[in-house]
Amino acid sequence: MSVFLLSRGTVVAPAGPLKTSDSKQSRPSSACRSSLASESLSVLKRQVVARANGGANAVRHETAMKGEGKFIVGGNWKCNGTTESIAQLISDLNAGTITKDLEVVCAPPFVYLAQTQASLGPPFEIAAQNVWTGAGGAYTGEISADMIKDLGINWTITGHSERRALCGESNEIVAEKTAYALSLGLKVIVCIGESLEERQNGSTLAVCCAQLKAVAEVVSDWSNIVIAYEPIWAIGTGVVATPEQAQETHAGIRKWLAAAVSPEVASKMRIQYGGSVNAGNCDVLAQQDDIDGFLVGGASLQGDSFITICNSAV
Ligand code: PEP
Repeated sequence: MSVFLLSRGTVVAPAGPLKTSDSKQSRPSSACRSSLASESLSVLKRQVVARANGGANAVRHETAMKGEGKFIVGGNWKCNGTTESIAQLISDLNAGTITKDLEVVCAPPFVYLAQTQASLGPPFEIAAQNVWTGAGGAYTGEISADMIKDLGINWTITGHSERRALCGESNEIVAEKTAYALSLGLKVIVCIGESLEERQNGSTLAVCCAQLKAVAEVVSDWSNIVIAYEPIWAIGTGVVATPEQAQETHAGIRKWLAAAVSPEVASKMRIQYGGSVNAGNCDVLAQQDDIDGFLVGGASLQGDSFITICNSAV
């Protein structure tokens, strides 16, 4: 565990205090909350620019523990691609020069897993983007973790916010999927993160910790889990969390893990940041103490950008 001092600009976008469900921190005043609630994404974008140009300085103290193991970058290709474009992306990735010793995991759509497996070389590993809650059976359209394992694939993502929002996956369903995949020996990137409204009303950590609490209720061995903190308001919007926001939330997640799971799990856990990471903003994010990797969407579809992001590993 290290104690460090941050001295950085603090104009934040979107603003909002971190607060766990059992936190004794006071909430912002109602005037403050309503002013926060009125921020639009375009305002938030302007704040990011303002901060990049040098915002007000503030000093704060944090207690943080950095995860153990290699920096880990995931590429979530989502529901994108054709046989031809996937072949091109794989060719670009294979041709790239990775200068850092890190883990890299690419998650193609299910139908392109075999193609990716056949042609994507090391150090790239492969992940599924999702799995069913248990073993196979009469679950039309689903893919079980057993099938992923059968293909020789070692990773899956669970709980991506798009699946939570668009497919109705609750914290409990995500936890069940995670536990089942882990039980088969798969490694799991568990995605968590708050909405813009939740960030603005100060419930960021309460939301993230509730998502993790559901996992803690069904999982005892966390050694094959990587947590991806992905604020929903930053996913695919071009509005990246500030390094300070990401660091603060990652540190809060780690602190919760120490209290609710164990100090050992907290100190070892790798926590990725995800949300509009690109070749231009990865370096400063990667330098934050509690950021142990990235989960990348849009920029993972461009070989050169993704390679640059991989090479930001610390
Ligand atoms: C994601 O979908 O996991 C993600 C982080 O997307 P993007 O990088 O495009 O914001």
